[in-house]
Amino acid sequence: MAKLKPGDRVDCRVKEATIVSPYKEYDDVLTFEVIGIDQYGYYLYVPPYYFIKKTFTVDKYQCKNLGVDPRFLDVQAHYIQENMILRINSVLDGMKCCNCEEFYSMAEPNQDDGTLICWSCRKNPYR
Ligand SMILES: [Zn+2]
Repeated sequence: MAKLKPGDRVDCRVKEATIVSPYKEYDDVLTFEVIGIDQYGYYLYVPPYYFIKKTFTVDKYQCKNLGVDPRFLDVQAHYIQENMILRINSVLDGMKCCNCEEFYSMAEPNQDDGTLICWSCRKNPYR
Protein backbone atom coordinates (compact mmCIF):
# COMPACT_ATOMS: atom_id res chain seq x y z
CA MET A 1 0.00 0.00 0.00
CA ALA A 2 1.23 3.45 -0.84
CA LYS A 3 2.29 5.55 2.09
CA LEU A 4 -0.62 7.73 3.11
CA LYS A 5 -0.35 11.33 4.13
CA PRO A 6 -2.45 13.72 6.17
CA GLY A 7 -5.66 14.61 4.36
CA ASP A 8 -5.98 11.19 2.74
CA ARG A 9 -9.06 9.23 3.77
CA VAL A 10 -9.32 5.55 4.56
CA ASP A 11 -12.21 3.17 5.10
CA CYS A 12 -12.17 0.86 8.11
CA ARG A 13 -14.50 -1.84 9.30
CA VAL A 14 -16.16 -1.16 12.62
CA LYS A 15 -17.84 -3.64 14.93
CA GLU A 16 -19.43 -2.70 18.24
CA ALA A 17 -17.74 0.72 18.17
CA THR A 18 -14.28 -0.79 17.65
CA ILE A 19 -12.17 -0.61 14.50
CA VAL A 20 -11.59 -4.19 13.41
CA SER A 21 -9.35 -5.87 10.87
CA PRO A 22 -10.54 -5.96 7.24
CA TYR A 23 -10.89 -9.73 7.56
CA LYS A 24 -13.27 -9.67 10.52
CA GLU A 25 -17.03 -9.46 10.69
CA TYR A 26 -18.33 -5.94 10.93
CA ASP A 27 -21.39 -3.77 11.49
CA ASP A 28 -20.34 -0.79 9.47
CA VAL A 29 -17.66 0.73 7.25
CA LEU A 30 -16.60 4.23 8.23
CA THR A 31 -14.34 6.73 6.50
CA PHE A 32 -11.61 8.40 8.51
CA GLU A 33 -9.24 11.21 7.68
CA VAL A 34 -5.55 10.60 8.29
CA ILE A 35 -4.14 13.36 10.49
CA GLY A 36 -0.81 11.95 11.58
CA ILE A 37 1.67 9.27 10.69
CA ASP A 38 4.36 7.41 12.54
CA GLN A 39 6.63 4.52 11.77
CA TYR A 40 4.01 1.85 12.42
CA GLY A 41 0.66 3.31 11.53
CA TYR A 42 -1.73 6.18 11.28
CA TYR A 43 -3.60 8.60 13.48
CA LEU A 44 -7.17 9.00 12.33
CA TYR A 45 -9.55 11.82 13.10
CA VAL A 46 -12.72 10.57 14.77
CA PRO A 47 -15.57 13.05 14.23
CA PRO A 48 -17.88 13.67 17.19
CA TYR A 49 -20.75 11.88 15.42
CA TYR A 50 -18.80 8.62 15.17
CA PHE A 51 -19.03 6.47 18.25
CA ILE A 52 -15.68 4.71 18.49
CA LYS A 53 -14.06 3.24 21.57
CA LYS A 54 -10.44 3.77 22.58
CA THR A 55 -10.05 7.22 21.13
CA PHE A 56 -7.76 9.76 22.73
CA THR A 57 -7.49 13.50 22.67
CA VAL A 58 -4.89 14.99 20.35
CA ASP A 59 -2.46 17.05 22.39
CA LYS A 60 0.19 19.61 21.55
CA TYR A 61 2.93 17.00 21.66
CA GLN A 62 1.26 14.97 18.92
CA CYS A 63 0.64 18.04 16.81
CA LYS A 64 4.29 18.93 17.00
CA ASN A 65 5.89 15.51 16.71
CA LEU A 66 3.59 13.85 14.21
CA GLY A 67 2.99 16.88 12.08
CA VAL A 68 -0.69 16.89 13.00
CA ASP A 69 -2.33 20.08 11.79
CA PRO A 70 -3.06 22.33 14.80
CA ARG A 71 -6.71 22.50 13.77
CA PHE A 72 -6.93 18.94 15.13
CA LEU A 73 -5.71 19.95 18.58
CA ASP A 74 -8.07 18.59 21.26
CA VAL A 75 -10.15 16.50 18.84
CA GLN A 76 -10.63 12.76 19.28
CA ALA A 77 -8.30 10.51 17.35
CA HIS A 78 -7.68 6.81 17.01
CA TYR A 79 -4.42 5.07 16.21
CA ILE A 80 -4.37 2.16 13.79
CA GLN A 81 -1.73 0.03 12.21
CA GLU A 82 -1.65 -0.09 8.45
CA ASN A 83 -3.18 -3.59 8.35
CA MET A 84 -6.43 -2.24 9.83
CA ILE A 85 -7.16 -0.24 6.68
CA LEU A 86 -9.84 -1.80 4.52
CA ARG A 87 -9.14 0.45 1.57
CA ILE A 88 -8.03 3.92 0.67
CA ASN A 89 -11.07 6.13 0.20
CA SER A 90 -9.44 9.19 -1.27
CA VAL A 91 -6.01 10.66 -1.66
CA LEU A 92 -5.37 14.31 -1.33
CA ASP A 93 -3.36 15.24 -4.39
CA GLY A 94 -1.53 18.34 -3.46
CA MET A 95 -0.21 20.22 -0.49
CA LYS A 96 -0.89 23.19 1.66
CA CYS A 97 1.61 26.03 1.74
CA CYS A 98 2.99 26.03 5.27
CA ASN A 99 3.14 29.81 5.26
CA CYS A 100 -0.23 30.99 3.93
CA GLU A 101 -2.16 27.68 4.38
CA GLU A 102 -3.47 27.83 0.83
CA PHE A 103 -4.00 24.44 -0.80
CA TYR A 104 -2.34 23.76 -4.14
CA SER A 105 -3.46 20.71 -6.06
CA MET A 106 -0.69 18.55 -7.50
CA ALA A 107 1.90 20.51 -5.52
CA GLU A 108 4.91 18.73 -4.07
CA PRO A 109 7.28 19.55 -1.21
CA ASN A 110 9.92 22.12 -2.11
CA GLN A 111 11.57 22.64 1.27
CA ASP A 112 14.24 20.56 2.98
CA ASP A 113 11.84 19.52 5.74
CA GLY A 114 9.26 18.13 3.32
CA THR A 115 6.92 21.09 3.45
CA LEU A 116 5.76 23.38 0.67
CA ILE A 117 6.11 27.11 0.46
CA CYS A 118 4.16 28.46 -2.47
CA TRP A 119 5.51 30.70 -5.15
CA SER A 120 3.75 33.80 -3.83
CA CYS A 121 5.12 33.29 -0.33
CA ARG A 122 8.63 32.65 -1.61
CA LYS A 123 8.45 35.83 -3.58
CA ASN A 124 7.04 37.82 -0.69
CA PRO A 125 7.55 36.11 2.69
CA TYR A 126 5.65 38.85 4.49
CA ARG A 127 2.40 38.55 2.58
ZN1 LIG B 1 1.96 30.49 0.54
